[in-house]
Amino acid sequence: MTKQTVLVVDDSSTIRTIIQRELANVGYEVLAAENGMEALAMIEWMTDLPDIITLDIDMPIMGGFEVCERLRAGKDSPSERKQLAAQVPIIFVSANDNLENRERGYQLEVIDFISKPFSPGDITQAIDRVLNPKEQFPGMRALVVDDAASVRRIIRSNLNRSGVEVVEAADGHEALALIEGEDGHFDIVIIDNLMPKMNGDELCRRLSKNARMEQVPKFFISSLNDKESILAFFKAGASDYLKKPFIAEELHARIETHLRVRKYVNQLEILNKQLEEQASHDGLTGLFNRRYFQEASERIFSQAHRYKQDLSCIMLDLDYFKKVNDNHGHAFGDLVLKGFAKLIDSRLRKSDIAARYGGEEFILFLPNTGADGAVYLAESIREKAEKHCYSDGTTELHVTSSIGVSSMLMGRAERSENLMSQADEALYRAKERGRNRVEIYGREETVRFVKMGKSVKAKE
Ligand code: GH3
Ligand code: MG
Ligand code: MG
Repeated sequence: MTKQTVLVVDDSSTIRTIIQRELANVGYEVLAAENGMEALAMIEWMTDLPDIITLDIDMPIMGGFEVCERLRAGKDSPSERKQLAAQVPIIFVSANDNLENRERGYQLEVIDFISKPFSPGDITQAIDRVLNPKEQFPGMRALVVDDAASVRRIIRSNLNRSGVEVVEAADGHEALALIEGEDGHFDIVIIDNLMPKMNGDELCRRLSKNARMEQVPKFFISSLNDKESILAFFKAGASDYLKKPFIAEELHARIETHLRVRKYVNQLEILNKQLEEQASHDGLTGLFNRRYFQEASERIFSQAHRYKQDLSCIMLDLDYFKKVNDNHGHAFGDLVLKGFAKLIDSRLRKSDIAARYGGEEFILFLPNTGADGAVYLAESIREKAEKHCYSDGTTELHVTSSIGVSSMLMGRAERSENLMSQADEALYRAKERGRNRVEIYGREETVRFVKMGKSVKAKE
């Protein structure tokens, strides 16, 4: 792997040597310049741009601010090289660490500020944080709400390095619109307090009432530092705050803490969903499992009973399925089960529920459906299944099914189990009478359709 390159710009040869030694020791390639002019010349002529620049502010010939200004001006240049050079991250290393210089630095998108004298390891840490961040948060999204584009860009570049996707909003209304949008899922919101149109406090209060955003950390960045303002942030629902101008290190460290918690919460949510899915669904076919069906059918039954609605139950069983396994193997049997389940599923309405009730036995509950509707559905499944060819690329097979139907009219049944045992009885009769047929509980005739939508009852 090629080494990452740091350009160290400082008029003091002692400082250059200290930084150079430290960075070379941990594997960075280091180049040095003793003033701004020399640095710009190097940047212009180097084959590859440096990955990062450490820049002193006070230097003879050309100081740090001018270097930044000239580099950043390249953004609007037609030269691609200059555009790329404008994006190289810059860290100030200076004895003139004061508010004014920091503010000016942020306007020029300087991403960090290290005060001289610094301690061993400080520079390496700051550079590692930018070029080789330890913790990664891929797939996480941050919303940055600030009316200052330069601050938004600094936060973006910081978070992008940890794999976080950053979406920017210039004011509260824009932020709220983004949150309501299709892509409105965020893991953290970073909010400037003083903004035109809507202040950060107000935005935060609105976010705290939003179901999507309620649990998402809200991180304040503000130039206000008095107790009252800070209290107001927290009362509005803030999770944390940072004073402007901030140093990249603190911003990074704090946001990382929130994202780490968020990462665990997200993982837990996914795990919970998986557990719920596993607890209610059959792993092979994706239909509901028997346990879930029993709970759900109870609810559906009570409702139909109370509101005097029709309700039907259908039980389906594959014919001679044991032979399918015996002749073609268990894996092929599984393929048939999955295919049959899919076939059932494709015929259902939203309100219907379907479950795998046993090995090759399936059950359906159809709310608001009387005998005729249920028989129509049962027969169409039987017919479709009969015609369906199951194939794994080598073996091709047709498998028929036997189906039993039971219905209750206008809520007239005592218990849901009655409906199920009646459907089971009808299914038993379908097996007895030779399989590949639909039988209805309480009717003697086997169902046969001549055409879709028209049922004919044929005496056996
Ligand atoms: P019938 O027409 O009377 O229903 O006969 P059948 O052979 O379909 O019925 P039986 O109940 O005798 O056999 C069912 C078979 O289903 C036996 C069992 O090994 C198989 N089976 C149950 N669960 C699974 C499964 O998950 N995968 C596979 N491949 N086979 C299964
Ligand atoms: Mg069977
Ligand atoms: Mg069986």
